[in-house]
Amino acid sequence: MAEETIFSKIIRREIPADIVFQDDQVTAFRDISPQAPTHILIIPNKLIPTVNHIAESDEALLGHMMVVAAKIAKQEGIDESGYRLIMNCNKDAGQEVFHIHMHLLGGKNLGRLIG
Ligand code: 5GP
Repeated sequence: MAEETIFSKIIRREIPADIVFQDDQVTAFRDISPQAPTHILIIPNKLIPTVNHIAESDEALLGHMMVVAAKIAKQEGIDESGYRLIMNCNKDAGQEVFHIHMHLLGGKNLGRLIG
């Protein structure tokens, strides 16, 4: 059984967070330490510790996270200017919170990440 993180408390609204979207599958809220003018985390309500723990039965959930990310980008007014979606997995990627989350970053030129 995976251990809950602070993100479970945010989902249940037990601790404060600037939640921008929530439905029965996912919750999205502003990162506490934003790395860009828009920095939002999109997380599944169900606890999945790392990308390595995603099961085939989670495919629709992961797809839904992408659909929600695009909707939030539009809501934030950065869909045309552009944005980056990032999911970190484990130590070498610097994952700090072991409840998978998609970072949505935008609102400025983010530069090239690869190449
Ligand atoms: P990771 O490095 O695991 O991909 O990213 C974790 C992210 O969660 C970081 O960007 C960090 O700022 C954010 N974060 C950690 N704790 C909290 C919190 O309690 N509230 C919010 N809103 N963001 C958090």
